[in-house]
Amino acid sequence: MGERLRAVESRNVTHVSPEWPVFWEQARGANVVDADGNVYLDLTGAFAVALLGHAHPGVSAAVAEQAKSLVHGMGDVHPPSVKLRLLERLAALAPWPDARVVLSSTGSEAVETALKTALMATGRPGVLAFEGAYHGLTLGSLAATDRDLFRAPFLPRVYEGVAFAPFPDPLRHGTGASRRALDQVEVILDRGAPNGDAIGAVVVEPVQGRAGVRVPPDGFMAALSVLARERGALVVADEIFTGMGRCGALYALRRVGLEPDLVCLGKALGGGLPLSACIGSRQVMDAWPESGGEAIHTSTFLGHPLSCAAGLAVLDALEGEEVPGRAEALGQALAAALRAALAGVDGVAEVRGLGLMLGIELARGPGAEPVAGAGARAARLALGEGVLLLPAGEHGHVVELTPPVGLTAGQVALAVDVVSRSVRRALA
Ligand code: PMP
Repeated sequence: MGERLRAVESRNVTHVSPEWPVFWEQARGANVVDADGNVYLDLTGAFAVALLGHAHPGVSAAVAEQAKSLVHGMGDVHPPSVKLRLLERLAALAPWPDARVVLSSTGSEAVETALKTALMATGRPGVLAFEGAYHGLTLGSLAATDRDLFRAPFLPRVYEGVAFAPFPDPLRHGTGASRRALDQVEVILDRGAPNGDAIGAVVVEPVQGRAGVRVPPDGFMAALSVLARERGALVVADEIFTGMGRCGALYALRRVGLEPDLVCLGKALGGGLPLSACIGSRQVMDAWPESGGEAIHTSTFLGHPLSCAAGLAVLDALEGEEVPGRAEALGQALAAALRAALAGVDGVAEVRGLGLMLGIELARGPGAEPVAGAGARAARLALGEGVLLLPAGEHGHVVELTPPVGLTAGQVALAVDVVSRSVRRALA
C-alpha cells in the first residue's frame, strides 16, 4: 500500500519506508486495527485528538444522528442551529463571563483568528512567540512556529514581525531558567519584533507540545502574563494540544497560572471531527467590526453541523465522564510507572508532563545533549511491537505520549513494557 500511496500522493506528505506507515482501517478506544487486521495500542491519541478514545460512543451517535438531518449548512450566513448550541456551551465554559467565539476547522485557523484579533484589538502587528513553538503551518500561523524545517523553504512568504523568546528549560538552565526566559521576553516587548513592529500578541502553549512536552516552571506563566499586560500586548493561550481536559483541567492555563486574553482550542474539541475555536472576552472580540453581510474572516465549513454535533457530545463526555480528573490520575500513574521502568537508564534525562500529556526526554551528559533521533527510533521499534508512538522535539529526541483517557490496566502495563524496552533499545 505504501507503493500505491507514493504513486498518487505528493511525496512531502507521508513518510514511506518498508516498516512505516500502517494503514488504519478501524479504531475504537485506544485500539487501532490496520488493513491487514493487526491490532495496535495507540499512545498518540492520533495527534492528541482521541482523548475520549477513538469512536467514543456518544460522539459517534451524535454525528450519526446529525448526519440524518443536516450535513452541511451556511456557517456565517444561515447558520445551522447546532452551531448556536455549541457556541453557547463554549461561551459558558470560557474563562470570561461574556465570551465571544469564532469557530473554524483546524488548529492553525484558530491561531490565525487569534493573531488577526490581536492586531485588530491592539493595532500592533508584532508577535512574541517561543523557541520551539508549534502553532500550525498555514502561512499566518507558520510565522509563529519555530522550527527551521517547516519555515526555511517559505521564508519569503513568512511574516517577519515575530520574535522568539526562550521557553524555560530547567533541564539545561536549572532554577534560573524562568528568569533567563523572562528577561528576553521583557527585551522583546520593549524593543519589538525583528522588523520593528510593536508586539501586540504573546502567543504561548501552556505546555509546549511538539517541542517535546516542555512544562513551564511554576510561576513562569503568571509572570509572563503580567509582563504582557503591562506592555499592552494580548496573551494568546494556544490550548489546541493542552486543552479540553488533556492536562487535568478543561484549560491547562488554569494549572500553569497563565492569564489569557484569547484562547485557541482544537484537536480533542471535535472528538475526531475537524473543529477548532478562538475564544475571547467580548471586549477583545468586539475589536472586530460588526458583519455587514460579508464576514471578513470566515470559511466554507465554519460551524459545520457534524463537527458541532461532535463538539457538543465531547463537552457532555468531558463533564459526564470526569475526563480532566481521570486524565490527571492516569497521567500520574503512567509517568510513575515509566520513571520506575526507566530508572538509571543512561540517556533518559527526564519523564515529565502535565495530566495525560507526557514526554520522555532522551539526552545525555552534563549539558543534557539531545540524543538526536532516539525518540523517532523508539517510535519505529514500538510500532514493530504493536504500539503507536510519536517522537517530538526539534532533534526527534523526545518520546511523546498522549493516549486516550480510557486505557485499561492491561493497556497501561503493555504501554510501559513496550515503551521502556523501545527506549532502551533506541539508546543502545
Ligand atoms: N497549535 C498547537 C499547540 C498544536 O499542537 C497544533 C497541531 N499539532 C496546532 C496549533 C495546529 O493545529 P492543526 O494541525 O490542526 O492546524
